[in-house]
Amino acid sequence: MVNIPEIFGCNVFNETVMKAKLPKTVYKNLRRNMEKGEPLDAETADVIANAIKDWALELGATHYTHWFQPMTGSTAEKHDSFISVGANGTALMEFSGKALIKGEPDASSFPSGGLRQTSSARGYTAWDPTSYCFVKEGSLYIPTVFVSYTGETLDKKTPLLRSMDALSKSAVRFLRLFGNENVTRVTSTVGAEQEYFLIDKEKFDQREDLVLTGRTLFGAKPPKGQELDDQYFANLKPRIAAYMAELDEELWKLGIYSKTKHNEVAPAQHEMAPIFTTSNLGADQNELTMEVMEKVALKHGLVCLLHEKPFEGVNGSGKHNNWSMSTNDGQNLLDPGDTPMENLQFLTILCALIKGVDEYADLMRLSAASAGNDHRLGADEAPPAIISMFLGEELDAVLKAIEEDGVYKTQAQDFEIGVNALPSFPKDSTDRNRTSPFAFTGNRFEFRMVGSSDNIGCPNALLNTIVAEELSWFADNLEQYKGTDSFEAEVKNLLKEVLKAHRRIIFNGDGYSSEWVKEAERRGLPNYPSVVDCMPHYTDEKNLRILRKFGVFNRDELTARTEIHLEKYSKTRRIEARTMIEMARKQLLPASLDYLDKLCRSIAAKKEIGLTANTELRIAAKLNELCDNFYESINRLEKIVGDAAAIENVRKQAEFFHDYVLAEMNIMRGIADEIEVNMPLSCWPIPTYSEIIYNV
Ligand code: ADP
Ligand code: MG
Repeated sequence: MVNIPEIFGCNVFNETVMKAKLPKTVYKNLRRNMEKGEPLDAETADVIANAIKDWALELGATHYTHWFQPMTGSTAEKHDSFISVGANGTALMEFSGKALIKGEPDASSFPSGGLRQTSSARGYTAWDPTSYCFVKEGSLYIPTVFVSYTGETLDKKTPLLRSMDALSKSAVRFLRLFGNENVTRVTSTVGAEQEYFLIDKEKFDQREDLVLTGRTLFGAKPPKGQELDDQYFANLKPRIAAYMAELDEELWKLGIYSKTKHNEVAPAQHEMAPIFTTSNLGADQNELTMEVMEKVALKHGLVCLLHEKPFEGVNGSGKHNNWSMSTNDGQNLLDPGDTPMENLQFLTILCALIKGVDEYADLMRLSAASAGNDHRLGADEAPPAIISMFLGEELDAVLKAIEEDGVYKTQAQDFEIGVNALPSFPKDSTDRNRTSPFAFTGNRFEFRMVGSSDNIGCPNALLNTIVAEELSWFADNLEQYKGTDSFEAEVKNLLKEVLKAHRRIIFNGDGYSSEWVKEAERRGLPNYPSVVDCMPHYTDEKNLRILRKFGVFNRDELTARTEIHLEKYSKTRRIEARTMIEMARKQLLPASLDYLDKLCRSIAAKKEIGLTANTELRIAAKLNELCDNFYESINRLEKIVGDAAAIENVRKQAEFFHDYVLAEMNIMRGIADEIEVNMPLSCWPIPTYSEIIYNV
């Protein structure tokens, strides 16, 4: 049996190791650097580097790598060995502070959205001491940011770190209003529940669409779906249990608090939830988690699919991003608290979130946008593409009381804001709403829109920035009343005003229903079903204003980022379309024509001996027509993909891919799926949905 405390974090240069391996003053300097961003002098850096190296060598590392998160969507690493030339042809193992702190990978092959002119095609990586170094597969991994030579962000970590600083400053200022004098740092926290599919590697390898695009581009619905609700929390099959056990162990060794595992709603779908941590570490650990999930699967003859919608008609995968804020004296700012003042503070933070989510719903939406997630959001299992907030009946009633100057009545007491303490809010209460994209769950918000394969850096960076803006707005409006007798009354007035203006974002009903789409439209809430609809709003003046104000993005960075996302959308659709064309031409159509040919020969042979061939004739006629349509569609798709290539404007091209390429892909798939239904299993050249999702 695994001894968890013993293996936990054994490959991580964490606090305990730091304390043990670093001289006291060096450790103190490092802590100051981690907490306050105070720079490290060269000498201290050298000592730290040397200690990390010795520790890594003990764990069998021969190399080190600056590990970063470029805009490609995956992590990147380039390994250098510690080796250097010693006297008389010997080798030394060396690692300097300089090498720890800064690296210069060739940046020209990473997406930059035009930020790096070719003349200055250089970027560099810089150690992020607020995350932990770790050893994996013979290398020391150093978490780093990735920026251009002029300091513009080229990655997903930099904006997150910037947003965490911004949030901390605003939140500390805000907390002073409520008499919180000791807090000096507020940190955003995240617990990312990770959904994934596991399928057999042998079946995976037979599907070019899965291999090249991560999702099935063809496939008729299986006779059994998820209608029996027999998957969610179902007992684990031995092969899955073995996988999960090894996954846990690997994650624990890397210092990831893997906590919960279970089967999810869809067949072959599962989930892992870690214990929450700081956003920065949480984002790094989620990237690691996804990597480990994929690698461990291969050891078990499985493939882990992280795509948001690997199978049409089957629930897709998301990453529920549980978010809150912690102070350095240990308060969770989304915990209501026990005193009237704490409650007032909590309710004000809640209203800041309501105001922020309403004003920046477009930013929230686009923070979770990707080609893959387009198939999920607004489909009937995932949150809709419309941003709204769920607070639960009880909290909603409290806010109504504020808005209407009323008294909030519970069974136990009449509650007056600022006079009585709030009744405690039931966590996981029965009215817990799973259809809401942004739901309050007792002591945190759960942002459910994030896609399963996405880096959580971006959604958290944007959310942090929005909250930083709103908390500073409240501080701007309330600071003049701080410590005065009218403070409480002024707060209540402000909350009332905010609730009146932003109540429309609160929705406690069924987010999947078509009535909600209409109701949301009536309320004037934005509904952006696709990447191409929401992404251009990134650079709207109001969004640009706060992102610049808090130093998260400048105008160039934001323009570049928008372009990268739109380009990525087009590239994804192009690869998918071309994969479809290839599979159709080389596998599906030939197989269908072969079978048709077989039928025709059988019809002829039967006629020769005087038998009727009605069944064969009917199938043949149907298949013949389907094949004609299929062939037409393949040709059309090929032409449209060609047309798309000629469009130079990035946004127009993405729109074209959405409006024309994707539309034709859907038509083609419809035809192919109907052909599949009419073909014998033995003649269908690729594994069917049933064979893939029910065979592990
Ligand atoms: P459920 O499926 O009911 O949403 P889970 O236990 O699967 O619940 O996931 C809850 C997630 O929320 C866990 O990752 C947990 O660590 C995280 N979480 C709890 N408290 C906080 C907090 N204050 N900040 C961020 N995440 C939190
Ligand atoms: Mg959840």
